[in-house]
Amino acid sequence: MTAAGNLEAGVVVRHLRGEIEIRADAGVPRSLRCFVRNALPPLVTGDRVRFRRDDDAADRGVVEALDPRRTLLARHTTRGLRGICANLDVLLVTFAPQPAPHADLVDRYLLAAELCALEPVLVVNKSDAASDADRVLLEALIAPRSALGVRAFEVSAHSGLGLRALEAAIGTRSAAFVGQSGVGKSSLLNALVPDAGAETGDLSTRSNRGRSRGRHTTSTTRLYEMERGLLIDSPGIREFIPDIPDVRALTAGFSEIASAAQRCRFGDCRHEREPDCGVRDALEAGEIDPGRLASFFLLRDELDARSA
Ligand code: GDP
Repeated sequence: MTAAGNLEAGVVVRHLRGEIEIRADAGVPRSLRCFVRNALPPLVTGDRVRFRRDDDAADRGVVEALDPRRTLLARHTTRGLRGICANLDVLLVTFAPQPAPHADLVDRYLLAAELCALEPVLVVNKSDAASDADRVLLEALIAPRSALGVRAFEVSAHSGLGLRALEAAIGTRSAAFVGQSGVGKSSLLNALVPDAGAETGDLSTRSNRGRSRGRHTTSTTRLYEMERGLLIDSPGIREFIPDIPDVRALTAGFSEIASAAQRCRFGDCRHEREPDCGVRDALEAGEIDPGRLASFFLLRDELDARSA
């Protein structure tokens, strides 16, 4: 029960037409539709807010205040920078034996997490369908990144393997899946949040049921509750790759390259043919993974091309 005048706390679940859905931390009902005071900035999914319930309808209310945001993911649009979601903690960088993973995409997401101060976690899905040869390839992708301190979880949305461990790693925090289309992001969401009802790309199942709605697209940003933590699903996050501001930020995002580069003779060393290059020395000593360095060079080439 809330005395008149008291503000309750909650989290923004999603936008509805002109209103927003709030999940209250306590009280009944937990789910409310709210108007937002005009004085507040635009709210995004994941925002922590203070609201007041209507006296005559406990499932309706007004959002009165916005708590400070721990993190804010935003994207550039023709109308300027638009927030995607707030208070995300963990980026679940997802891949699988099929479709074949691209190391450079995985490294882009690891960099994205670094630039946005999110914890990256590697999620290797479809472990039920991985052959021995697949496992060798996956391990070559995982090992050098685990060595940098990134945690990896082998899971299967289909068999349920590893899902409890993944949930425990998220804990009470807020997480989102990113990765190539077809790796199983919707399936994992459905496995972790049984009533989420996200449509998956399982075309055979779909035609069996006589539905033909095309591939799954997540059209709105929405927050889902797990037993303890939160999952946010959004087209903006699924495809999220930040603008890399400059080569300094890029290098900082590849910590092993940044630390080896401190031993380069030249401050502006490109790690290509220069003498006394700490990065090439570290590569030869097996301290830097060739795949990581290839990802770094690819991203740097893109950065060079953009600023040319
Ligand atoms: P998304 O595009 O990343 O959201 O991927 P979906 O969740 O739509 O899954 C793509 C395809 O992979 C579908 O056919 C799923 O049934 C299949 N899939 C998802 N998870 C698993 C899994 O754990 N094991 C296997 N064998 N297939 C899976």
